[in-house]
Amino acid sequence: MKRREKKQPEMTAAEAQSFDRFSLVNAAILEEASALKGCTCHAYEDWFTYNRWAAQNQQVQRGEHGTKISVIVHKQTTNDQGEVKDISFGRSVTVFCRCQVKPVEQRAEVQHA
Ligand SMILES: [Zn+2]
Repeated sequence: MKRREKKQPEMTAAEAQSFDRFSLVNAAILEEASALKGCTCHAYEDWFTYNRWAAQNQQVQRGEHGTKISVIVHKQTTNDQGEVKDISFGRSVTVFCRCQVKPVEQRAEVQHA
């Protein structure tokens, strides 16, 4: 399967933490993933994709494995006749919890006497 990565528009930290929709299934999957990891991270609060963490100035740490969930993407497209259509498709995304990221600044200077 070929996949072309499209350049995403820059996301603000606030946008990165907002969701149009909530999935009870994904919430359950992530609550269970947290339990398995032994942490108390919550879906839609502490679990984000790599890009959403980056938009919040957080870096996924090397060696961390993400958790895969399926999301439904809703988009509007305009066809040749200028008609706007709503389309939906399923997509698999990988998310990381708060325990797997660190603020980007921390890497630059950590100087304690
Ligand atoms: Zn966690």
